[in-house]
Amino acid sequence: MVRQEDHNAILTLNRAAAADLIDLARSVVLLGCDAEVAHIAIDLSSQPEELITRLGPAIDLRTVGPLLPQRDASLSALARGMAYWHERHVFCGRCGAPTVSEQAGHQRRCSNAECGAIFFPRIDPAVIMRVEYGDKVLLARQASWAPGMHSVLAGFVELGERLEDSVRREVKEEVGLDLVDVRYFASQPWPFPASLMLGFVATAADDRIQLNTDELETARWFTREELLNSPENDVLRLSRKDSISRVLIEDWIRRE
Ligand SMILES: [Zn+2]
Repeated sequence: MVRQEDHNAILTLNRAAAADLIDLARSVVLLGCDAEVAHIAIDLSSQPEELITRLGPAIDLRTVGPLLPQRDASLSALARGMAYWHERHVFCGRCGAPTVSEQAGHQRRCSNAECGAIFFPRIDPAVIMRVEYGDKVLLARQASWAPGMHSVLAGFVELGERLEDSVRREVKEEVGLDLVDVRYFASQPWPFPASLMLGFVATAADDRIQLNTDELETARWFTREELLNSPENDVLRLSRKDSISRVLIEDWIRRE
């Protein structure tokens, strides 16, 4: 994506400026119309870097997303998610023939008339949950994370599973705890590449953690005081302020 140097905003091109670029795009998607203005995303990621940097500084959405106004962040997330989906669905998963983009980029159809399969952008739901017991909250870390980083538990929803059951299964698999209460909290789109994070709060039946070391490096109970005084160093640091993990943690800290 491209961002203006002086403002926390995405740089948009008008029709004249974008005209030559559309032919180079790997995919073109109508994002939506705002009064009389149609917003269109073109994926230039297959083009040489010189062409991109000529337009302005290119910065990954994952880095600048939190700095953008909500509307720009949403438009950018949609654009990025759609570009990723198009790039990975150029062939039919049923018969192997090429697919073509339709409906202003919102579906792809198999070009083999005998097949004609239609494909839609997919979203991968994931649950992310704050587990509490008494006046403690459970945080864990994976070995691959930055040193000291701790977060609440999370995992992908499986086929045929209710979200609440997904929360119970993940917690049981990762730390061996049973839950007595599971409630929905809030959600956050995470189009890197196609997740929707569904946040829950849950209460554990007891505090006896049985760590699954295939999934986690550590997991333990934290007090409010520990988290309020998080040193944000290689021993303990919390996830980014804009993440739903952090929102779940901050909500718990305030709930004294
Ligand atoms: Zn096909």
